[in-house]
Amino acid sequence: MNELCELTIHEAHQLLQQREISSVELTESTLQRIAETEDRVHACLTITNDLALEQAALADACANEGQAEALTGIPVLVKDLICTTGIRTTCGSRMLETFVPPYDATVIEKLKAQKAVIIGKTNMDEFAMGSSTEHSAFFPTHNPWDLDRVPGGSSGGSAVAVATDQAIYALGSDTGGSIRQPAGFCSVVGLKPTYGRVSRFGLVAFASSLDQIGPLTKDVTDCALVMNCIAGHDARDSTSARYPVPDYTTQLVPDLKGLRIGIPQEYFVEGMQGEVRETLETAINKLQEIGAAIDWKASLPSTRYALAVYYILAPSEASANLARYDGVKYGFSAVKASSVIDATEKTRQLGFGTEVKRRIMLGTYALSAGYYDAYYVKAQKVRTLIRQEFDQAFQEFDALVTPTSPTVPFRLGEKLEDPLQMYLSDVCTLPINIAGVPAISVPAGFADGLPVGMQIIGKPFDEETILRIAFAYEQATDWHKKRPPLQ
Ligand code: GLN
Repeated sequence: MNELCELTIHEAHQLLQQREISSVELTESTLQRIAETEDRVHACLTITNDLALEQAALADACANEGQAEALTGIPVLVKDLICTTGIRTTCGSRMLETFVPPYDATVIEKLKAQKAVIIGKTNMDEFAMGSSTEHSAFFPTHNPWDLDRVPGGSSGGSAVAVATDQAIYALGSDTGGSIRQPAGFCSVVGLKPTYGRVSRFGLVAFASSLDQIGPLTKDVTDCALVMNCIAGHDARDSTSARYPVPDYTTQLVPDLKGLRIGIPQEYFVEGMQGEVRETLETAINKLQEIGAAIDWKASLPSTRYALAVYYILAPSEASANLARYDGVKYGFSAVKASSVIDATEKTRQLGFGTEVKRRIMLGTYALSAGYYDAYYVKAQKVRTLIRQEFDQAFQEFDALVTPTSPTVPFRLGEKLEDPLQMYLSDVCTLPINIAGVPAISVPAGFADGLPVGMQIIGKPFDEETILRIAFAYEQATDWHKKRPPLQ
């Protein structure tokens, strides 16, 4: 048998239920894998060995009584902006380097209710601002398919952890692509649920009208299983929706008969790599082979404004959300200061990195008197148009398919000096957050030996259809089985 850490959730669950393996063994296998690989990939910020093994022993007791749920005893790594009681939650920032939350995020409570085993916290771009994990205040994460390249971001640590079997699955967050883009770059499955589908109570806020928590997994079935656990209304998150949560595994069937899929032209952008385009075209032909009706001429004309809209709205919201880091209430505090103003300035000067400061400046500018109408209000209007175009497209199609990113993973350092180039790497994922609809990235092949992701976009609260398409594609291909050449 392979190493236990290579199992999926559903495989491990079956073995746990049959008592063929124990959660302690499974957890030890992932911890061992972290020890073997971490010096090369740097995916984790905190590893909670002892706590994890304690949780695993409790999960085993539960399984022995025949009470194992889908995630019971299965090791998970959590992006380090989701609050975990007693476990440091840094958000990839010096500002929160020593912050230990006194409470769990709702998603963590839900995982714990199933007796999941939390083995640690993953690296990320500071405050989730970035597309490469190079903006982490601590160290960059490396792509296991080529250690000189970025894993994507901002949930780069979570994507690498899943790709390298450091954990059976991981949680990430996605404001403009931060689950899907790294999932695509690392050849794993990543889902950004509909806005409001998963509670964000306990998620450190970046841009509140865009942020969502979601799973990164080794296959689509696992993704559905994690959604079954984390989705649903939460009275502590006023933006969480009251729609009932279906069983996301029931629609996972291996054909696409009767489904209409549109391919929006605008996503095959200028600057897209030729091999990525070809890989995507092959993947879309496969969808047709397994029964979908494909329309290559779908159109979402306002897509070209999405990047501009995002980089007004997200920094505006971030500038308001990040005002709370003043060195008084919690987090880093600059001690040597001559006055309250001086203390606040020094705290923010030393506590935040360059990209975070850039966003705060962009946001305060866009929100300031005189510019508010010209930038913020205008961007909100265009946001409505973008959303309306998605609504229209979904009258004709059950789902839309695009590349996850226009390129394969780029080299570490390649875009660090040029923020616009970095921002462009999310050009295919940002519009989805602007519209608030769900989208999943699945492994769709390789270009020059590097992973390519396919993004499947769905109607609001119709994660089931995109999971179905993703599942059928996965059954017809074996990209998800490929593992990076990391020993
Ligand atoms: N890369 C985008 C940004 O920097 C999206 C980040 C995210 O989804 N958290 O804002």
